[in-house]
Amino acid sequence: MELNRIVNELPHLNVKLNEPLSNYTFTKTGGNADVIIFPKNQEEVIEVTNWTRTNNQPLTILGNASNLIVRDGGIRGVVLILTEMKQVIVDGNGIIVESGRALIDVSYLALEHELSGLEFACGIPGSIGGAVYMNAGAYGGEVVEVIDWVEVVTSEGEVKRYSNEECEFSYRHSIFQTNDDVILSVKFTLKKGNHQEMSEHMDHLMDLRRSKQPLEYPSCGSVFKRPVGHFTGQLIQEAGLQGYRIGGAEISKKHAGFIVNVDGATATDYVELIQFIQETIWERNQVRLETEVRIIGEEVR
Ligand SMILES: Cc1cc2nc3c(=O)[nH]c(=O)nc-3n(C[C@H](O)[C@H](O)[C@H](O)COP(=O)(O)OP(=O)(O)OC[C@H]3O[C@@H](n4cnc5c(N)ncnc54)[C@H](O)[C@@H]3O)c2cc1C
Repeated sequence: MELNRIVNELPHLNVKLNEPLSNYTFTKTGGNADVIIFPKNQEEVIEVTNWTRTNNQPLTILGNASNLIVRDGGIRGVVLILTEMKQVIVDGNGIIVESGRALIDVSYLALEHELSGLEFACGIPGSIGGAVYMNAGAYGGEVVEVIDWVEVVTSEGEVKRYSNEECEFSYRHSIFQTNDDVILSVKFTLKKGNHQEMSEHMDHLMDLRRSKQPLEYPSCGSVFKRPVGHFTGQLIQEAGLQGYRIGGAEISKKHAGFIVNVDGATATDYVELIQFIQETIWERNQVRLETEVRIIGEEVR
């Protein structure tokens, strides 16, 4: 296959062929990727993006795969999983970090250095790249508030730095959802904080998470965005949908905004359950629920 040439042409890269993506997604669902590459540094990302562009192959980027449903037919072309790119530098009030590092790690690193501003992120299980792409947020905080700049490689192979304003952040949105840039690294600018206060606040947020979210099951977090004027969980709860199942996917009994994999769910179970919820809430409340989770890849043929 044309695509397999990448193994010979870029032999120093960590490549897996025909690999199940269910091994990587937080929902434990999803079909196979033709090729997965785990770049160790920014140069390797650029090499791969140059190769896919020159060879006219599709490229898909994954961070921690905590906000993704990959359909059961999998992903054609090359998938880049960035979680081996984890370099981080703390410099004064700034933290410069590569996009594959876990956001949770960075929030605890900030605590260690008494740098305040990322406490809200201590339980968000994404990578830095995924957090920027999604403008991840929780408990009143969002990454937009602490980002200084974001460095990417564009689909033309150019390395480019965006200022915070140029990222066009809004609720669970950034400019990176509208282009093919690969996020390489990010600079956070934080404020001097107090270790004890920060630590107590983070413990409190983690207690809240554990009490409200079904963390004992695989899931992709909140499936839907918050619709203006409503709370998604409340709408789903009032419709009596909690506990409703399709295949092995179930609307969580603990948090109605989550769909949990309780019994060997497929991505198709997830997608059908999402559509069922959207249709039910539209008929009942005339509210359109838009997915926060990204649904990618192909149907089974
Ligand atoms: C239990 C649980 C709790 C959660 N709680 C929260 C929460 O409180 N708040 C919140 O905002 N989210 C939450 N999430 C969702 C998720 O963790 C965030 O959206 C996170 O930011 C996604 O990061 P990721 O690395 O997993 O991205 P992925 O799921 O891997 O990817 C998401 C999207 O980002 C793109 N992407 C990822 N990395 C890059 C990159 N380097 N360059 C370009 N594009 C990239 C992917 O192509 C994809 O379209 C939760 C999820 C779970 C499972």
